[in-house]
Amino acid sequence: MNKERMITVTNFSKQYKGFTAVKNLSFSVEPGQILGLLGPNGAGKTTTLRVLCGIIPPSSGSLLVAGHDVARAPIEAKRNLGYIPDDPRLFDTMTVWEHLAFTAAAYKLADFEKEAEALLASFELAHKRDTLVHNLSRGMRQKVAIACAFLHDPKVILFDEPLTGLDPQGIRGIQQAIRDRAQAGAAIIISSHLLSLFENLCTHIMVLNHGECRRFGTMEDLLKEVGHTDSTSALEEVYFSITQAPDQSSDTAVVS
Ligand code: ATP
Repeated sequence: MNKERMITVTNFSKQYKGFTAVKNLSFSVEPGQILGLLGPNGAGKTTTLRVLCGIIPPSSGSLLVAGHDVARAPIEAKRNLGYIPDDPRLFDTMTVWEHLAFTAAAYKLADFEKEAEALLASFELAHKRDTLVHNLSRGMRQKVAIACAFLHDPKVILFDEPLTGLDPQGIRGIQQAIRDRAQAGAAIIISSHLLSLFENLCTHIMVLNHGECRRFGTMEDLLKEVGHTDSTSALEEVYFSITQAPDQSSDTAVVS
């Protein structure tokens, strides 16, 4: 597998009208790695993902997706990127299949039908192919958003709370899909409050608090450091020790 860094974030900061939401963040993610982004409400997770996928601009620093600067070369960066927001917006008056066809047209994919059929089958949506998304359940809508994000086979995938609204079967399916994508060489970031999701999936963990990186490392190192064999307990311990500690400024963590 090519170990070129697929996501490279260097000294990234984001201010909203003078309020610093993310401060001096640096990290990278390689193909096959799954980074879990953890942190309390307002820590800066969604802001980081939204800047990485070019929805909002950074205030400073550089963010590269597959080698393309998201601010200077947004089209090239987006061509390599799949983003699943926490509240995916779909078109109520379009069917499931029309969403996939629309996405294929946006990415100029010539032969998308086979891949689209496979995605619908893997997300157990084949029977809803011609249903308006307005008439789908919340979990099904989430799966449509994920199928659309996967259609162009992105090298970088960003998930903001991917399991919202999914049933246990759906959760298992999405986890497997994420694992498969990583194994096929995608670099993935997942933001979630569900520590058990990280235990099952992530190779790396970053804890954000008040917009700053408080911890970045491999899941393995984290477990060794805390001395737990159970990843969820280890993550809980690290999470609470960081987020309940008195506020402190830290150096930027640069880890690859
Ligand atoms: P959650 O876990 O609740 O989703 P988060 O870690 O994703 O939180 P962000 O949504 O990135 O947090 O928000 C980080 C900070 O930036 C918060 O204090 C939030 O109020 C602020 N913020 C986010 N978007 C804006 C905006 N458009 N204008 C002003 N402030 C904003």
